[in-house]
Amino acid sequence: MAEVKTQKITCPQCKRELDINVWSKVELPYDAPQREQVLRNTFFKVGCENCKATFTIAYNCKYNDMERKYLLWVVPAMDDKTRKEIEVYNQRLSMDNSLRLAQGGYRYRIVRNDNELREKVFIFDEGLDDRYIETLKIVYVPLIKNKVGKDIPITGIYFDKKASGGYQFVVTFVNKPPMCADVNMEIYQDMMQKLKSIAERNTPDGLCRIDADWALAIMMHQVEA
Ligand SMILES: [Zn+2]
Repeated sequence: MAEVKTQKITCPQCKRELDINVWSKVELPYDAPQREQVLRNTFFKVGCENCKATFTIAYNCKYNDMERKYLLWVVPAMDDKTRKEIEVYNQRLSMDNSLRLAQGGYRYRIVRNDNELREKVFIFDEGLDDRYIETLKIVYVPLIKNKVGKDIPITGIYFDKKASGGYQFVVTFVNKPPMCADVNMEIYQDMMQKLKSIAERNTPDGLCRIDADWALAIMMHQVEA
């Protein structure tokens, strides 16, 4: 079941004390409104009634979709306690046969912030595989850099739906508005075919990060092989 607590925080702008809901666990299909908030990227957003400021509060939270079979742990800051908790969970998964059977086909991911949570939920709920979305990003980075200039650092690339249908990457920068790049899903399909065996071999059974570093390692390996 979902777990929610009320917690007091201080508004960073007017310093007034606010009560906020802190969800340590969200469970689908029960918590459908929270899923909507995640997809709209308002789940971790807090509004101050006094000064009307809005800000993002990220905290540890588990997002578990039991129908679509995936578990996302939001870990904004990896401390020793959380690292241990993840280790224990992964150990249990590898030792406990009944748990493994009950959760057969589950995907386990660690995400760091609201954007990553939103993106994984979106990808999985679209019925797609996040591993090949990450390798697809690696292909798009040079194209994006060619367009905006090589010296402009990219702060994030997020997979999203286009209003007109189809998919796009939303690319964020420092001091520059985000840009969108149409995604060619034929490349995604192609990557899934070509990288499947190496990707499967290199996907840990338990909670793990599937991000740009993971994708780059997979693709470098592919080039060497
Ligand atoms: Zn305030």
